[in-house]
Amino acid sequence: MSGLRLEDARGAYDAIVVGSGAGGGTLTLGLARRGARVLLVESGDFLRLQPSDAGEQPGVYMYGLMRPDDEVTCVGGSTKFYGAALYRFRESDFRAVEHEAGVSPAWPFGYEALEPYYAEAERLYRVHGAAGDDASEPFRAGPFPHAPLPHDPLVGAVMARLRAAGARLSDIPRGLDYGSGGACIMCATCDAHFCTRDAKMDAETAAVRPALATGNVDLLTRTDCARVITSIDGRRAEGVVLVQDGNERTLHAPVIAVCAGQTRTALLLRRSRTDKHADGLGNHAGMLGRGVAGHMTGVFFALVSAAPMGPRHTKSFAMNTYYDGAPGWTHPVGVLQIAGQAPIWNDARRVLRPIVKAIAERSLMCFHMTEALPSRDSGFVFEGDRIVAEAPPRFCGGSYKRIRELAMKAFGRAGYPVIPALRKPQLWHKTGGAIMGNDPAQSVTDGHGQIHGVEGLYVIDASSLPSAGAVNTGLTIMALALRAADTIAASGRAPA
Ligand SMILES: Cc1cc2nc3c(=O)[nH]c(=O)nc-3n(C[C@H](O)[C@H](O)[C@H](O)COP(=O)(O)OP(=O)(O)OC[C@H]3O[C@@H](n4cnc5c(N)ncnc54)[C@H](O)[C@@H]3O)c2cc1C
Repeated sequence: MSGLRLEDARGAYDAIVVGSGAGGGTLTLGLARRGARVLLVESGDFLRLQPSDAGEQPGVYMYGLMRPDDEVTCVGGSTKFYGAALYRFRESDFRAVEHEAGVSPAWPFGYEALEPYYAEAERLYRVHGAAGDDASEPFRAGPFPHAPLPHDPLVGAVMARLRAAGARLSDIPRGLDYGSGGACIMCATCDAHFCTRDAKMDAETAAVRPALATGNVDLLTRTDCARVITSIDGRRAEGVVLVQDGNERTLHAPVIAVCAGQTRTALLLRRSRTDKHADGLGNHAGMLGRGVAGHMTGVFFALVSAAPMGPRHTKSFAMNTYYDGAPGWTHPVGVLQIAGQAPIWNDARRVLRPIVKAIAERSLMCFHMTEALPSRDSGFVFEGDRIVAEAPPRFCGGSYKRIRELAMKAFGRAGYPVIPALRKPQLWHKTGGAIMGNDPAQSVTDGHGQIHGVEGLYVIDASSLPSAGAVNTGLTIMALALRAADTIAASGRAPA
């Protein structure tokens, strides 16, 4: 499969979508199924296994492990390597909530506005799960579209011991093509890996390919969107300047959706500035690049096996009990999730690698995530077309410590020794940079993702989220994309 040549793009589109990841891929499918003709533009190509990419595990193409800032450039975006943990945000994530280091802001709408789109996204991405066990789960109008996944026997035994020792655990909702006739075999190369069986429901398999199958979508791969073009008065989006193999072409459409990912969306809007938008599109209030948030993430190992466990599918359970607070701590603390198997020792100093490897091969790798809060100051400082500095979000250090202790104690009570990883907390699942909001002085887009004051110009990706919650952000980005597809279709700018 490959994309069109730039000169072959038809040029009569209802919408042009830039970026084919969680936001752009899903938006393209949503628009195409609502009858719109869409041009999807992607910097990267279809990801296919290259012999030279095979690492420790032959035949496996892996993400630059544990470097959250690595930007993925391919059809499907970062979802080609994601763990497909597809969580709905909690109801409290949409409200203003007091945290240890400040307030996580209210969204321009409540959870109930997104509920039907979460359900649609769960169907598209084949999410498996079970309602009822997750202590913080939001209400849902219907069941999960697919039954819970089985746990690996060793993982299931660990869960039983944790539960017997008092821990409340829940299945991680996952988007996998598992079950009768499905391609998923629940192997070890899932989280942080490219799935060679096409069994992971990423934005390519679950959205871009079905979108192409509608016949309503043209795809340009290896094509960069250099700039978004706005009308002379600056009030309307008119098109994009595209570059493929050094050739440049301008294409027009009444709707332009920038879905280039958390950093590259802000950069693209910045370099699209004009005399009417001197600091960048959507930056009249200085909010472009701001409101960056994410998850402060720590790792420890729970030693669950005396001998190396061998390859297993481990990313299957979580502890969300303390989402909104914990004993003796009134603030939200976050979640614990078991990660997939990955050679994390390659990230350690050379001298430590053998010991980290010996530990990791006998352990479940435990990730804990605590919300890092956005502010007006968190985010990028631009100089010309570049980002020259980045201010971090507010880190809730006490909450981070609390979830780490609670999670480690849960394993300790069940008789499993825990070993902390020797690494500083990392910021994962970054959000913000072009945040949604009702107040144009505090946000870049309105509550539907349309840039304040620029008709037809939308941002739908990780950068639109006003806060990051503490669960994985992918499903929320997908749900926002489907909601935007409805909005755009209803506005008459693309046919319903
Ligand atoms: C290892 C790993 C594991 C993860 N696990 C999970 C998980 O289990 N659950 C979860 O919810 N999230 C997970 N995430 C995060 C999730 O993948 C991202 O939050 C999500 O993909 C972000 O979606 P997006 O649309 O903002 O950006 P992306 O999915 O990154 O898509 C952006 C796309 O835009 C393209 N692009 C950029 N600039 C241009 C341009 N100028 N012109 C054309 N195209 C352009 C890029 O090439 C890219 O394809 C994980 C991420 C990683 C890296």
